[in-house]
Amino acid sequence: MYNHTAYEMGANRCAIRDLAEYGAARAQVIGKENIFDFTIGNPSLPAAPEIADAVRDILENMDPLQAHSYTSAPGLLAARQAIAQDLNCRYGTDITPDELFLGCGASPELCAVFGALAVPDAEILAIAPYFPEYQPFAQAAGCKLKVIPPDVPDFQIRLDEVEKALTPNTVAIVINSPNNPSGVVYTRQTLEKLGALLTEKGKAFGHPIYIIADEPYRELAYDGVEVPFIPTIYKDTIVCYSYSKSLSLPGERIGYIYVPRQATDGGALYTAVAGAARSLGHICAPSLWQHVLARCAHLRPDLSDYDRNRKALYEGLREAGYAVAKPDDAFYMFVKVPGGDAEAFTKKAMEKDLLVVPGDSFGCPGYVRLCYCVSLDKIQRSLPIFASLI
Ligand code: PLP
Repeated sequence: MYNHTAYEMGANRCAIRDLAEYGAARAQVIGKENIFDFTIGNPSLPAAPEIADAVRDILENMDPLQAHSYTSAPGLLAARQAIAQDLNCRYGTDITPDELFLGCGASPELCAVFGALAVPDAEILAIAPYFPEYQPFAQAAGCKLKVIPPDVPDFQIRLDEVEKALTPNTVAIVINSPNNPSGVVYTRQTLEKLGALLTEKGKAFGHPIYIIADEPYRELAYDGVEVPFIPTIYKDTIVCYSYSKSLSLPGERIGYIYVPRQATDGGALYTAVAGAARSLGHICAPSLWQHVLARCAHLRPDLSDYDRNRKALYEGLREAGYAVAKPDDAFYMFVKVPGGDAEAFTKKAMEKDLLVVPGDSFGCPGYVRLCYCVSLDKIQRSLPIFASLI
């Protein structure tokens, strides 16, 4: 006996992970150097040496009982203070530790926030292309996910479509900027217009419509592109942040939720987030990594390798004749496929040991996503294969 909904979620596997696992198996057969795997967003930049120094220092010099013990559910005060201080220095905010809740990365944080907002018939909007895991997260929380069609080819937000989709049941809209998979940052102008629309509709419906800012890529932007801190534009914003990509710690599972006290029902919402996290089995974020954050929350990634990859791949693909969304951030490129059938393109590419993810998985058919967190050599050797597919 088992729960059929849970079975469906397990059986309906994430296409990205399937392709990445195929890539790993294929690499065993033909050699790692001969597989061109652009599927999974695992940072190729090693964590900064300061991280290893902090871990070493904690393990060698801190009382082990303290280093590994349970912390409070929201997390160590020292870690939350370090994060608040870092955010306040950068964004001129006055965030305090009691607005921060440390979590195990953006995924469980999103689940907790969806759960906290899951009133009966709750609807959450997501903008295509979007992170596919929003679907199971929303379903498990008992919320309906409604997808806004993509704004092709710029990949900003179609506000006319958002307006059409908003109903009195809408509790939130998830915004992922810098965006996976498009590689685009939503501009300040886009976010201000969205904020104005949500304010107007929230007044009409008699309740707030929160923005849930899913932000694993906030620090990964190139050429000085501005990544606005959304709570400074729209007060009813809840941030789900992750150190998976910015500190290259995806397997360590550490991040935070920021619920501003200025948000509508801010204090109660924070408590609801804590309650929803508890119901998902949250006891505390990994304590070792909380201690690391208390020392390292101010660190930023050195983006030069990603930037070099970005330029080489973007220029190479364009020279080969592909249309590519201008990649300003993260380590993703969204490429329009010739002929428009992304699934067929993906299969043809696979025959040449080139692995990409069809945009269909992200609610945006006709495109494929490439993760360029691979070696420059792989990018350079993959370009003739891409050229042969056009
Ligand atoms: N949201 C987006 C848009 C992502 O791309 C990812 C991971 O790739 C996540 C959330 C989940 O990140 P985490 O590792 O923090 O759970």
